[in-house]
Amino acid sequence: MIEFPPRINLAQKPTPLQPLSRLQALIGGPLIWLKRDDMTGSTLSGNKVRKLEFIVAQAQKDGVTALVTCGGIQSNHCRATALIAAQLGMKCHLILRGIPAKDESLDGNQLLDELCGASISYHRPADYFSNLDNLFDKYIEGFNSAGETGLAIPTGGSNAVGAWGYIGACKELVTDFVAKKIEPTAIICASGSGGTQAGLVLGKKLFNISAEVIGINVCDDAAYFHAKIAEDIDAWLRRYPQQAKGLEFSSADINIIDGYVGEGYGKASQPVFDTIALLAKTEGAILDPVYTGKAFNGLLNEIKQGRFDVTDNIVFIHTGGIFGLFPFKASF
Ligand SMILES: *Cc1c(COP(=O)(O)O)cnc(C)c1O
Repeated sequence: MIEFPPRINLAQKPTPLQPLSRLQALIGGPLIWLKRDDMTGSTLSGNKVRKLEFIVAQAQKDGVTALVTCGGIQSNHCRATALIAAQLGMKCHLILRGIPAKDESLDGNQLLDELCGASISYHRPADYFSNLDNLFDKYIEGFNSAGETGLAIPTGGSNAVGAWGYIGACKELVTDFVAKKIEPTAIICASGSGGTQAGLVLGKKLFNISAEVIGINVCDDAAYFHAKIAEDIDAWLRRYPQQAKGLEFSSADINIIDGYVGEGYGKASQPVFDTIALLAKTEGAILDPVYTGKAFNGLLNEIKQGRFDVTDNIVFIHTGGIFGLFPFKASF
């Protein structure tokens, strides 16, 4: 039995695992199953709440009253953190990358961030990247000197504690696979900060899942994610030596499909929008241009190129992102 650390129940779990049979009938190839982590909640929709269940439980145990985190201006992680803080009566500050245009109305995640009362600072990308540690220090100190106890949560909630989120999802998948009588050959996710994939790689080992875990990166490159995910796994192994006993990892456990970043993080091209429209029409499932649409478009391309067997069952983790769709409305 794997002993999980403290967790607060914030996500709707277990999420469904659904076969995309109509898509398969249309395009052929393996059967793709969607793990519907876009259904972990309405406002808390997506993968970040699974990590935050553990991060915030630990934080409350440690007496934390204020959360500080960071991300892009449409960050799903920042939105989930801000909403959870409001839900639990905690304070929250978001360090956002990007300056909103003066004539732009609030949209998507940013609208929800503002609505739920998080304090927000906006930073030019160059300042953000060169100064992030100082910015965290500044806002944590601000909270601490006001009598709060601040906690810095890294990008995407990807740290040793957050990794438990997708270890927990692996436990669900084991039950799903038995119920559906399938033995998938691959579990695929969009990788942005790497924490989801790190959790899946850990969970695969802990629960003896035979499927290969594959990340399709939506920013940076394969080398970056190899290093980042190895670092996250290492941090988990060091923090949880009891649970880590007997586990061994090598770079072969980290599989990245690179080549679908396109023009960069948060930028999508026509094939990504076409893929989003295709899945919406065929299956009634909504992907987003930044993460799931980009990764799913990559997956369809890999299928076309024969990477998977037509008899394979493969799992795509729908990590959410619906609020990030709306700021792209002009592209549809
Ligand atoms: C953050 C995010 C991801 C990427 O997860 P990481 O753990 O940061 O790699 C994928 N999809 C969506 C919708 C996200 O918000």
